[in-house]
Amino acid sequence: MASRYWSDLVTGLDPYVPGEQPKIANLVKLNTNENPFGPSPRVLEAIRAATGDNLRLYPPPDADSLKAAIAAYHGVARDQVFVGNGSDEVLAHLFQAFFSGKGTILFPDVTYSFYPVYCGLYGIPFETVSLAGDFSLRVEDYQRPNGGIIFPNPNAPTGVALPLEQVEALVAANPDSLVVVDEAYVDFGAETAIPLVARHPNLLVVQTLSKSRSLAGLRVGFAIGQRDLIEGLERVKNSFNSYPLDQLAIAGAVASFADETYFQNSRRGVIANREQLRSGLEDRGFAVLPSCANFLFARHGRLGGAELAAKLRERGVVVRHFNRPRIDPFLRITVGTAEQQQRLLEALDDILP
Ligand code: PMP
Repeated sequence: MASRYWSDLVTGLDPYVPGEQPKIANLVKLNTNENPFGPSPRVLEAIRAATGDNLRLYPPPDADSLKAAIAAYHGVARDQVFVGNGSDEVLAHLFQAFFSGKGTILFPDVTYSFYPVYCGLYGIPFETVSLAGDFSLRVEDYQRPNGGIIFPNPNAPTGVALPLEQVEALVAANPDSLVVVDEAYVDFGAETAIPLVARHPNLLVVQTLSKSRSLAGLRVGFAIGQRDLIEGLERVKNSFNSYPLDQLAIAGAVASFADETYFQNSRRGVIANREQLRSGLEDRGFAVLPSCANFLFARHGRLGGAELAAKLRERGVVVRHFNRPRIDPFLRITVGTAEQQQRLLEALDDILP
C-alpha cells in the first residue's frame, strides 16, 4: 500500500520481480537459472574456514584477494577488476556511473528485465531495439546516436549468443558511448569479450559467480574494463556501501577460482544436460531456440506459455513464463539434473494431448 511518506521517486518505481523461491518439498525448480550441481566442495571448505571470531571485524573493503584471483584468472591487472554483491549490484552501479545523464541508452526489446528497472531508479531514458525474427541481435541496429548500450551475451531469456566479432563490431561502431556486455551465462557456450577490453576503452564486461560457479546464494559478481572505468565504479561503490562483499563471500569466491577442474566439469555437465533437455522438448513438439546458456527458451506448437507453466506447476515443476509482448508463448526452462529433467518431461507427457 502506498504511503504518503514515500518520495515521488519511490511512488513511481516499477521494481524487478525475481522468479519465486517456493518452499514446497520435492519441487522441481527450473525457474531461476540456478546451477543444479552445487558449488565446489573446496568453496564450502573455504567458507567454513573463514567462519570464526574474525567475523567481528569488517571485511577488507576492496576485497583485494578476490580482485587478485579474478585478475589472474582472466589475465588482466587488479585495477581492471570491480567486484560487487552479485552482478545485479555491479549493474546498478554502472547504470549510475556511466549511463546517468548521458542521453538515451539502448538495449534489446527482449532482454534482462532489470535494465529498465535501473533506468527507472536513476532516471535514465532508454529505447529498446527489436531483435530479429530469430531473436538474434543485429549490430547495425545499434549504429545510431545513444547514451550507452547494454545487452547480455548470451541474451536472456532467449539464450541466443552474439559471436565475438559482432560484439567487437558493435563496440567499435560506438566509440563515444560505453558498451556493457553482461556475460552472466557466457561460460555455457559463448565467447567472453574480456580479451577485447585491452583495445576498447568503451567496453565493460560483467560476469557473475551465480551461474557457472553455482554460487547464486553467495552474491558475487564482477566487472572488467580499463582502469578509468573501474575507478568510476569504485567512486559509486564507495559512496554507497564500503563493504558489499562479506568475509565469507570473499573466501568462497577466491576458492572457486582456484578449483578449475570442478568449474570445467560443472559447466560441461550443464551443457550436456541442456542438449538432452533440448531433444526431449523437441520430441514433444517444442520449438527451442539455440542456447548458449544454462536454460532453454521453448514454445509449444499448440499450448500457450502461461497455460503450460500453470499446468507444470500443478505437477510440481516450476519454470519461468514472461507475460510480455513477443515472448508470451515461450517458457524459459533452467537446465537441471537428469532426474529433474526427467520429471519435467514426464509432467509434459501427462499434460500434452
Ligand atoms: N544478468 C543477467 C542477464 C541475469 O539473468 C542475471 C540473473 N538474474 C543477472 C545479471 C544477475 O545475476 P547475479 O546478481 O546473481 O549475479
